[in-house]
Amino acid sequence: MSLDGSILSRLKFFLQALSDFVFPPVCCGCDEEIESGLICDSCRLLLFTSELGVCQRCGRPCLPDEPICGLCGQEFFLSRVRAVGPYQPPFSSLIQRLKYEGKTGLVPVLGGALALLVRQDSELSRADGVCAVPLHPARLRERGYNQAYLLAQEVAAVTGVTLLDPLVRRKNTRSQIEMKDETARKRNVEDAFAVKPGVRFQGERLILVDDVMTTGATISAAAGRLLEAGAGAVMGLVLAAALVRK
Ligand SMILES: [Zn+2]
Ligand SMILES: [Zn+2]
Repeated sequence: MSLDGSILSRLKFFLQALSDFVFPPVCCGCDEEIESGLICDSCRLLLFTSELGVCQRCGRPCLPDEPICGLCGQEFFLSRVRAVGPYQPPFSSLIQRLKYEGKTGLVPVLGGALALLVRQDSELSRADGVCAVPLHPARLRERGYNQAYLLAQEVAAVTGVTLLDPLVRRKNTRSQIEMKDETARKRNVEDAFAVKPGVRFQGERLILVDDVMTTGATISAAAGRLLEAGAGAVMGLVLAAALVRK
């Protein structure tokens, strides 16, 4: 026996209405009850108005009132990184829902906020291509999607910058957020990435997208491989950055 499409979609609508009644939808950023959707108006507004500064010395994200970040001096292969906000709610909650709770319906709004940063940045707006920090194939199978790639796809669609997929992850690195020690982080990401066979660049300026940046060791390791493969510059684009005060 098979159900036709209209019965299925009515059933789906009914089940959604029932579940909204039993569990009213809450905003993925601040947990406030909302009528429908995944994000409330104030979190949405914050996403499209917030941006972190860029460290004048090393290009990492920094607080708007502190022009120099707390991580200067450590090796960093990106020319600059633009970030929407600090790694704290609502930014951290939105990322966790996207990553671990399958809320891929957040991609248009989160990718839209990233695309706005690209448009407003004198360097990123002139990029030749946009790509994502890849997941290890085992983790990709487990999760079913790479949230960074979904965001890069959205940025490409909104800005018109060409979407590329040049990198692979060779090591299933542990979460950088779990590791407090810088040496441990560095060892964790060494040789974690490679470019796909046959990938060669000729001085292109690339945007590299990730969801979160902590010290930048992961995104920097990935950027290093792109530079070795001939990229002219790599610029980072992340939703949230864990800021270290100087
Ligand atoms: Zn909210
Ligand atoms: Zn710095």
